[in-house]
Amino acid sequence: MVPPNADWPVRLSPRAAARRTAAMINVLAGEPTPAAVREVLLAHGEDESLTITDDDVEPLRRAAHELRPIFDADDLETATGLLNHLLARHTQRLRLTAHGGTAWHVHLDRDDDGPIGEWFLASACLAIAVLIWDRQELPGGVCAATGCDQVFLAVGSGPDQRYCSRRCATRERVAAHRARVSAPRPLSR
Ligand SMILES: [Zn+2]
Repeated sequence: MVPPNADWPVRLSPRAAARRTAAMINVLAGEPTPAAVREVLLAHGEDESLTITDDDVEPLRRAAHELRPIFDADDLETATGLLNHLLARHTQRLRLTAHGGTAWHVHLDRDDDGPIGEWFLASACLAIAVLIWDRQELPGGVCAATGCDQVFLAVGSGPDQRYCSRRCATRERVAAHRARVSAPRPLSR
């Protein structure tokens, strides 16, 4: 029987973990406070009891730094090569866990009380691997808007996504339009 607290598939799904991965890479690209990092994790389904200290931020940043090139990759071959390298170096044996009364789900880190950087990197690798397996496409990319270097997770099966947000897409469209109307017209006789 499925326990009443089981919240599969929303909170513990590979897609939720992949979304969390992209959001964490973005927040950790700056110099975030522990509170800012905690906020992102809570927004992506982690429990209120989670604490993030100053000492947690650096290992998380290192993990984000390792993951970012996967989003930079232009083709699946490169992305999977990078991911396989991380899986070989940073993950443990596949195991099922129901820590803290959650639904059963898969982990690739050493144990439920392991270091947070290890957990983040291992769970990110697992989520991206499942996503590639499922979609046979790049898991996401880096925003093409000028001055934005946020990574995004590819969603749906529409035309190739190029921007991290509607905001960036609109800004680029407006800038391209302005550039067109202000371009000098060829002289006519
Ligand atoms: Zn953007």
